[in-house]
Amino acid sequence: MNGSTKVTECPKCGGKELGKGKHSGYAVMVPVNKVMSFGSDVEYIICTECGFIIESYVKKPEKFNEIQPEVPFLKNSMEF
Ligand SMILES: [Zn+2]
Repeated sequence: MNGSTKVTECPKCGGKELGKGKHSGYAVMVPVNKVMSFGSDVEYIICTECGFIIESYVKKPEKFNEIQPEVPFLKNSMEF
């Protein structure tokens, strides 16, 4: 019991062998309404028994925050 919400077994088959996978290269998730964005890699928690994708994450969820300013260099200059 570690108190975290981390998944330790497959809800489909009950398998406890979970693997981690990721999309890389061009297979990135991109925000639908930000054409100029580079998007973010996607990481998966996968059941290695049945192949069910238990969880999926984007590595940089902040890229999908619609409140964030569109212009990255403006944000960077404000941090100095
Ligand atoms: Zn499974």
